[in-house]
Amino acid sequence: MAARDVRDTIAAVATAAGAAGIGIVRLSGPRAIAIAQALTGATLQPRRAHYLRFLDADGAVIDDGLALSFPAPRSYTGEDVVELQAHGSPVLLAQLLRRCLALGARAARPGEFTERAFLEGRLDLAQAEAVADLIHAGSAAAARAARRSLDGEFSRAVAELAEGLSVLRMHVEAAFDFPDEDIDLLATPALAARLDDVRDALSALRARAERGRRLVDGLHVVIAGPPNVGKSSLLNALVAEDRAIVSAIAGTTRDLLREDLQLDGVALTLVDSAGLHASGDPLEAEGMRRARAELSRADLVLAVLDASASDEGACDALAAELPAGVAVLWLLNKCDLVPAAAPPLSPEALAVSARTGAGLEALRDRLRVAAGHDLGAGGSFSARARHLDALDRCAAALSTAGRQLAAGQAELAAEDLRLAQAALGQVTGMVDADMLLGRIFAGFCIGK
Ligand code: GDP
Repeated sequence: MAARDVRDTIAAVATAAGAAGIGIVRLSGPRAIAIAQALTGATLQPRRAHYLRFLDADGAVIDDGLALSFPAPRSYTGEDVVELQAHGSPVLLAQLLRRCLALGARAARPGEFTERAFLEGRLDLAQAEAVADLIHAGSAAAARAARRSLDGEFSRAVAELAEGLSVLRMHVEAAFDFPDEDIDLLATPALAARLDDVRDALSALRARAERGRRLVDGLHVVIAGPPNVGKSSLLNALVAEDRAIVSAIAGTTRDLLREDLQLDGVALTLVDSAGLHASGDPLEAEGMRRARAELSRADLVLAVLDASASDEGACDALAAELPAGVAVLWLLNKCDLVPAAAPPLSPEALAVSARTGAGLEALRDRLRVAAGHDLGAGGSFSARARHLDALDRCAAALSTAGRQLAAGQAELAAEDLRLAQAALGQVTGMVDADMLLGRIFAGFCIGK
């Protein structure tokens, strides 16, 4: 981040789409237009496409193509920007880039164009991160979510919340700035109601951000259950390939099998866990240790029981193995062995059959919803673990503020509300730590 305040001109090859494709060299900074004019020998009109030849120092033609200039501040970075479209040959693009560097540009670091856009106030941090999410989107749903974040949907929700918090802070601060007022400002029910409103809005935003995080990262699903209930068979049926070893002898799944799958454009990771049960076998014990570690990292656990053989005892034993707070979907597999009229073991459980495929479409639907592909919720925006962490810190500070308010401690409550607002500000970029910026933008590709 050393060069953060130095407004030099950066250059990078933004895309190289192969010999037949188009390659772009992008320049940003005060010398961008001068460099492009030296390179082409032409005067560039703002926002006009010029068909030109790109020349080397000795006047030899490197390539021909288009040059477009976007003078500050109406450009991606907010600085003078030039884009040179050449043929997509990596050799030509490297030559073009070398020439730009010789004319005074510096090679851009990964994400530096977007970093500059952020520093110039063209994008806030959540939007800047959405640029990277859009580029790396592994699915159509993830790309749509990143688009919404880039359009500022997440940032606007955060700003609305910050506004609610500001009003709250004003009221609380008024209470101790004017302690001689007749009415006890802190005791007014309106204040408590306002705090509750902010907390409700925050938890709704957190739920949306969590869905967005899953869309970006993919959902981590763990299949768990006692041996021989059909966990491996379910994994196979969902991925439609014979990967896990399926066997009628209890305890064959000693290791964890991972399978990445795309479900309607949503990334899921399935982990087939070792049968969770008491065993003296050291190999099985190791499998169980790994399974428990996976369970603790899961976004969703598919808790599988055998519909034809499980009783409440099996259900309780498995429930006891699941980490607290994790989302669980109960599955009763082998429903093909149970008469349709048989009462379900649990009303929330989904009856499925890995053998016949019964119930698997309903299971896929549930997975889609869990993975953030929740059409009923008006679509999600992309978010990251960093954002969820900031929202959690905001929620914690609000809880403390609520307790302080109830105890009549206006000054302490005001300080907690300030901390809550600061945590919220970190989502959109009221951050002072260069380290954080460095980490975020280093995750980008060069030329963005
Ligand atoms: P795991 O130990 O839980 O992974 O169980 P497996 O997937 O290895 O399956 C154990 C046995 O149950 C195998 O013989 C499977 O063929 C059988 N099985 C799995 N799913 C079903 C199902 O839906 N219906 C029936 N009838 N048998 C199944």
